[in-house]
Amino acid sequence: MPEEIEERLERVRAEIAEAAKKAGRRSEEIDLVAVSKGHPAEKVRCAMQAGQLLFGESKVQEARAKIPSLPAHARWHFIGHLQRNKVRQALPLFELIHSVDSYELAEQLSRAAMEAGMFPRVLLEVNVAGEATKFGFRPEQLTRYMKQLLEMERLEISGLMTIPPFVDEPEKARRYFEQLRRFRDTLEEEFGVKLPSLSMGMSGDFAVAIEEGATLVRVGTAIFGPRMKREFTGDAS
Ligand SMILES: *Cc1c(COP(=O)(O)O)cnc(C)c1O
Repeated sequence: MPEEIEERLERVRAEIAEAAKKAGRRSEEIDLVAVSKGHPAEKVRCAMQAGQLLFGESKVQEARAKIPSLPAHARWHFIGHLQRNKVRQALPLFELIHSVDSYELAEQLSRAAMEAGMFPRVLLEVNVAGEATKFGFRPEQLTRYMKQLLEMERLEISGLMTIPPFVDEPEKARRYFEQLRRFRDTLEEEFGVKLPSLSMGMSGDFAVAIEEGATLVRVGTAIFGPRMKREFTGDAS
């Protein structure tokens, strides 16, 4: 298993470098988040031995059990739907929350951060295709809330995240990644802010996402293999 994870990691890193090169970008601009949800801590340890230090989890409960059992130099990002009653537990565990998907969650985070004396770094999740079953702000909705979100002094909003509609080939996801990047550009212009981070691309389509400007790719299966149980992938249904 350790060799397998190491080989898969090397392959993913090579594909990241290739996609970056193709797009005229430097591969250092792209952070690989190894999504370890649904996998035991020992697999994370293998990935750490292969030089991977950044991991993503999508459930607070699972992360609370896994993170303390691993070396403290591992870094953790939260990528799933964050329930408001789990915010307090999540804050000290994660250096970035990719998935602020509603105004109410932002408010709750802001409040909890104030109480904990923290300034969490977050991304706003955008439902670019407006799918009824997905979490996230619709673009027009986010435009409406953006000013108020930026006024939440405790939240360091550093960019946007999306989970595109399911497609059968990576090329078909391109337009959603492009939409997220363009929307980011529009928000930067309209609100005079910098939103440098774009979290987009998973195992099947991270190369296309990088060509469209991703700075964070969230890759699980291509590194750790199939997950034990069917895992939550962002559908609200
Ligand atoms: C599970 C998950 C991933 C990783 O998916 P893979 O297809 O296994 O790479 C990425 N992003 C989010 C939000 C996820 O829930």
